[in-house]
Amino acid sequence: MYDVYEIRKQFPMLDGNKKMQGKPLVFLDNASTTLKPQCVIDATNRYYAEMTANSHRGDYDLCYFMDVEVAKAREAIAKFVNSEVNEVVFTSGDTEALNLVAYGYALKYLKEGDGILISEAEHASNSLPWFRIAELTKCSIYFINTDGRITVGQVEKSLNKHPNIKLVSIAHVGNVLGYRVDVKAVAKLCHRHNALICIDGAQSVPHLKTDFKDLDIDFLTFSAHKMCGPTGIGALVAKEKLLNDMDPFITGGGMNVSFKNDGTYLLLEAPAKFEAGTLNLAGIMGFRAAVEFLSSIGMENIEEHEKELHAYLLDKMGNNEDVIIYNKDNDGSILTFNKKGVFAQDEATLLNSKGIAVRSGQHCAKMIDRLLGTPATVRMSTYLYTTKEEIDVFVENLLNGGDILDAYFND
Ligand code: PMP
Repeated sequence: MYDVYEIRKQFPMLDGNKKMQGKPLVFLDNASTTLKPQCVIDATNRYYAEMTANSHRGDYDLCYFMDVEVAKAREAIAKFVNSEVNEVVFTSGDTEALNLVAYGYALKYLKEGDGILISEAEHASNSLPWFRIAELTKCSIYFINTDGRITVGQVEKSLNKHPNIKLVSIAHVGNVLGYRVDVKAVAKLCHRHNALICIDGAQSVPHLKTDFKDLDIDFLTFSAHKMCGPTGIGALVAKEKLLNDMDPFITGGGMNVSFKNDGTYLLLEAPAKFEAGTLNLAGIMGFRAAVEFLSSIGMENIEEHEKELHAYLLDKMGNNEDVIIYNKDNDGSILTFNKKGVFAQDEATLLNSKGIAVRSGQHCAKMIDRLLGTPATVRMSTYLYTTKEEIDVFVENLLNGGDILDAYFND
């Protein structure tokens, strides 16, 4: 394990000076985005202060240095998720990576009569791209019959019922309930049914050791900002053969070999053929710093820390009758709840008045309300730097923090 208080010293946002509503910040919205350690801020700044130049576009030293930085970052990300280096495509984030699979792969290969399998617990970014593909190709969307926790058996039932399914796209860890899917078993099953599997890793790659090769999945998507990295950068990791078969969905500079006035063109090989335009170079440098930072702590240690916090949190909450918890039995960093008789947004506003950042609403998963039987929930989510003291402040304010009027008239 690691010393969480030592780790916190590396995060400027956690230096004790940051206040919300005049109270010390208690940041419990890590499923939305995460705070940045100084090494990530420094790496990002280094691009602007010391290294500004484009990559792949010049013959002078600074351009060459940037090429080296991009290559090193790609290597670091490949190492982090155990893929080949040329299986890593830089995208603007998880959303763009999922859209790249949708428009680059599914639009090209799926047709009327084919099926895509998702679940009602998926984030908008892992739902709407498939809805668009269904509109464009006339293929069908099917939903895994689940109560929110996706099991291998449920996926198998769907695959048996709809042998036309060609692609399964699910989150490894859901962003509302935080349940973890047995991805390795599901991938095996998909391949047995001749379907590809795309894993939305937005909520898993930051929290669990992810082994692309061992899971034997076809596509993996994630965002740097949810794992201590900068915003505006993320990755699609995909099997080399699939990348070679896929088309880019944006085209332009930096991804072609040649083009002529007869409309013909030749593209670079993957991953470059998917990276049109100037890359987010500062973001790429920060992304590398983020994965190296996480690796230096150890993903197993981060997972262990979050598990310990989860147990501590549930113990502190006790069996309080005023709070409905929707995912007591989840495996990690997300607790989703409502206070009886209190609208979720009111509860989040009240907690904000105490300096506590949580998220309320549907959390971009707008089909899950049917599974939960409630239109909105409050979600608190921890990360590697969350302390038991912060959990204490959260629980105390949740259980004894007064009501919504305090947010406006008290303190
Ligand atoms: N999928 C899941 C499961 C998520 O939690 C999120 C972010 N909330 C996304 C996709 C989209 O990520 P981004 O906004 O970073 O592209």
